[in-house]
Amino acid sequence: MTAILVVDLDSVFFEINGETHRARLDRVPANGQQVQTLCGAVEKVAYQEPVRQVVGQPIPWCRRCRHLHEVDVAAGGPRPAPPRYPPTPHPRQVIRRQLEAG
Ligand SMILES: [Zn+2]
Repeated sequence: MTAILVVDLDSVFFEINGETHRARLDRVPANGQQVQTLCGAVEKVAYQEPVRQVVGQPIPWCRRCRHLHEVDVAAGGPRPAPPRYPPTPHPRQVIRRQLEAG
């Protein structure tokens, strides 16, 4: 027998710098694969163990991702996944790169 892990893609989210983001996914991303969040952040996925309990806990949502997800839900469901490597960086990434560059 095999226990098949079933993942609801609408319930997958990503933590980046303490904020929780959503993405439009067509499959579960592989470890190390880049994903783009609804708000435009592009980061590599990293699976970490142990997975902490999130059910019943407050989630520090990214405001833009939460808004865009609500728009998707109101429109009848998530829109198709965007291209894999979009050119628009998240504003925080732009600021971080500027700070790192001096
Ligand atoms: Zn976000």
